[in-house]
Amino acid sequence: MGIQDRLKAVQARLEAAAQRSGRTASDIHIVGVTKYVSITGAVEALNAGVTELGENRWQVAKPKWEYIDEHKLELPNPTWHFIGSLQSNKVKEVVGRFDYIHSLDRLSLADALQKQAEKQDLTIKCFIQVNVSGEQSKHGLKPEEVRPFIAAMKNHDRIQLVGLMTMAPFELEAEETRPVFAKLRQLRDELVQEGGEGCTVKELSMGMSNDFEVAIEEGATYVRLGTILIGTKEDEE
Ligand SMILES: *Cc1c(COP(=O)(O)O)cnc(C)c1O
Repeated sequence: MGIQDRLKAVQARLEAAAQRSGRTASDIHIVGVTKYVSITGAVEALNAGVTELGENRWQVAKPKWEYIDEHKLELPNPTWHFIGSLQSNKVKEVVGRFDYIHSLDRLSLADALQKQAEKQDLTIKCFIQVNVSGEQSKHGLKPEEVRPFIAAMKNHDRIQLVGLMTMAPFELEAEETRPVFAKLRQLRDELVQEGGEGCTVKELSMGMSNDFEVAIEEGATYVRLGTILIGTKEDEE
C-alpha cells in the first residue's frame, strides 16, 4: 500500500471513530510521524496531503526538516511537531523550527524554551506531557503535578500552553488503553472548568498507530501516527 491508500484508510477509520464520539473528523489533527522514514518518505507524505509532520529527535528530523525548508517554494509547507522528550541543550535547534512541542514535562525545560523564544522573538505552542499510566519508563508529569506546573508557568509568556499529551502503555488490545485516555480527558475537562474563559489548555494529543481510534473516542484532538500512516523503513524498500 502506498501513502495515498494508507492516508485514505486512516481517514476512514478516523471519521468513524470521530462519529462515535459525536464529533467530526475536521476537529482532529493527524500528525504524520516521519521518524522511521527517509527524506523521500516525508516528502511523499507531504505531497499526499499530510499537512502536519512529527519527529521525536532533532538528529533524525534534521535532514528532512532542512530538505523541506530548502524546497519550501515547491512543497506544501507543513506544521512541524516535536513529539519526543526534549533535552534542554537541544532547545535551540527546535525553537523556531517546530510549531508545537508535545513533551513539556519540567520547569527547567520551560525556562530554556522561554529563554530561546525570547532570543528569537517568537512564541512556542506546547502540550504538557502527562504520565497517566505511571509507567517508570514514560516521561511526563504525574496528573497531580499538572495544576502546580501550570501555576508556575504564569511568567513564561513566550510559551503558549495548548493542551495535554500522553502516551499509553503498549497493549495488544487497544481497548485496554481506554482508561488512560479517559483520565487525560477528565483532567483537561477539570482544568477548563477551573480556568474558565482564560484556560488555553484545551487540546488532547493522544493516540498512536495501535490505539488512535480509542483515543479519538475519548476525545483526542491530535493523533500521532507513524507506522500505520507514514510507514517504516520496510515500506520504503
Ligand atoms: C513514534 C511515536 C509515535 C508514532 O508511533 P506509531 O506507533 O508508529 O504510530 C507517536 N508518538 C510519539 C511520542 C512517538 O515517539
